[in-house]
Amino acid sequence: MESQGNNNNDLVEMNRSAIVKILQQKQVCSRADIAKITGLTQASITKIVAVLIEMGIVSEVGIIAGNGNRRSIGLRLNAEQKKVIGVKFGRHVFALGVFDISGKLYAQKDISFDLNQDTRTVIDSMKNQIRKMLEMFDDIVAIGLALPGPYLKAEGRIAMVTRMQVWHSINFIDEFKNEFDKPVFIEQDANAGALAEWWFGNHGRPINTLAYFLAGEGVGSGIVNDGRLLFGKQGTASETGHISIDYKGPKCECGNRGCLELYCSAPAMLKEAENKIAGFEEKNYASRSEACAAVFDAARKNNQKAVKLVRSIAEYIGYGCVTLINGYNPDIIVIGDILAQGGDLMLPVIDEVIKERVIPELYDEVKIVFSKLGVDPTLYGAAAIATDRVLRKPSEYLAVK
Ligand SMILES: [Zn+2]
Repeated sequence: MESQGNNNNDLVEMNRSAIVKILQQKQVCSRADIAKITGLTQASITKIVAVLIEMGIVSEVGIIAGNGNRRSIGLRLNAEQKKVIGVKFGRHVFALGVFDISGKLYAQKDISFDLNQDTRTVIDSMKNQIRKMLEMFDDIVAIGLALPGPYLKAEGRIAMVTRMQVWHSINFIDEFKNEFDKPVFIEQDANAGALAEWWFGNHGRPINTLAYFLAGEGVGSGIVNDGRLLFGKQGTASETGHISIDYKGPKCECGNRGCLELYCSAPAMLKEAENKIAGFEEKNYASRSEACAAVFDAARKNNQKAVKLVRSIAEYIGYGCVTLINGYNPDIIVIGDILAQGGDLMLPVIDEVIKERVIPELYDEVKIVFSKLGVDPTLYGAAAIATDRVLRKPSEYLAVK
């Protein structure tokens, strides 16, 4: 648990962190802009910025246009000098990416594994790949690991993930905590996606509450409120995938019936596609993502069965969004992962469902978008887990020694 109070040094670091976070988002801005956003006095900003420049975290970039006719000196974060490794652990693939703290990707590697493979072999292979990345880049400051949820944060264990039973006994904290000379931060995939959208999504500020709706191998959501993830007691809050939309529906592995995940995950869509679209078989495609892309393409080409299927998937995602809106009152819901490939087809349907089922005052204020981070926002998310932690303690992680 994080401490409740703040010592003087913590306050100094919090103010440094606030400035660094603004620069991470705005790329270039003036001391006066920062004063306006933070509410700190110009004198305080000048003092803190001087220290950040001395630490090599921030640079001046010449004159920029200010308010009115005023011109002022621009400041920027030296983001490219500090990198993080993001590691996404999926149901049959793990991926590694080296990113800088502005979200720019420098290297990526995807490694497939069989779910029946010995867990020790897979973990050791992950560690070896991380070590290789650490050897390739000498400016890595932290590692972020994104796991499928529900992830019991304090225990370091995945609680229940469809089709991944053998992995329940692995303690990821014990495995990774002291493995490298860089800190490893772990979160579940939907929370990671939420952080990726928060830090790298370019959704415009201010945002108070961002909800990320993961629609991929599973269904989940992550909520960032005022820059902080919502965890609940054990870390599994906002498990939208296991909210029931039909209490008499099919039984889910979690114990509940009619869980949302059973209706609008990628496997759920592909199962329906095999039943309903003539000649469609998932096994004809290299990956689940490609198989889903084929269903969306068929719908775009006006295959009526595909159009109908995509519509029904979009309706289910809409029901999930209604739950997110009523549960968390977000400014924005970002829908991401494999099914985001069909965003253009699904967004109007999702909007229809929300408009019909949410009270007008809430409907008017919430923005629904599909992720623009690409098909694998969880990998960005893994990097965002590390970035988020690093930006909280700039002097510890970002100072050029
Ligand atoms: Zn369930």
